[in-house]
Amino acid sequence: MINLTEDLKMARIARDNAKSTTYNVGAVLKCKNGNKYTGCNVENQGIQSICAERVAFVKAISEGETDFERIVVIGAPKGGDDYERCLPCGYCRQFISQYTDKDFKIYTAYNDKIEEYAMDELLPYSFDGNK
Ligand code: ZN
Repeated sequence: MINLTEDLKMARIARDNAKSTTYNVGAVLKCKNGNKYTGCNVENQGIQSICAERVAFVKAISEGETDFERIVVIGAPKGGDDYERCLPCGYCRQFISQYTDKDFKIYTAYNDKIEEYAMDELLPYSFDGNK
């Protein structure tokens, strides 16, 4: 299994910055050139909140990144470290699918487990306006 020790450490630090009322999420996006970008969920009253995964992607894309290798996502109820299987929501899945290739992988870690998913597993038959 892939070694995600550094990514998990970065995701936990990012998660500490989450602005949420109930559930904190951290994410680390790794580009094919080795650069990494973190994200946390940022909730906001009255307007659209944004998930950790999209924060990481938007940070990377705004820095000119175009080729992505993987994203690691961890999440737990606010105030604790009881990590649960935390996978991108439907909105994020569609967002991620637009900016990644078929070999892009999604990881989530909880209870000493690391699970790996391909985009097609999480979003089969995704909409692709370019096809
Ligand atoms: Zn999401």
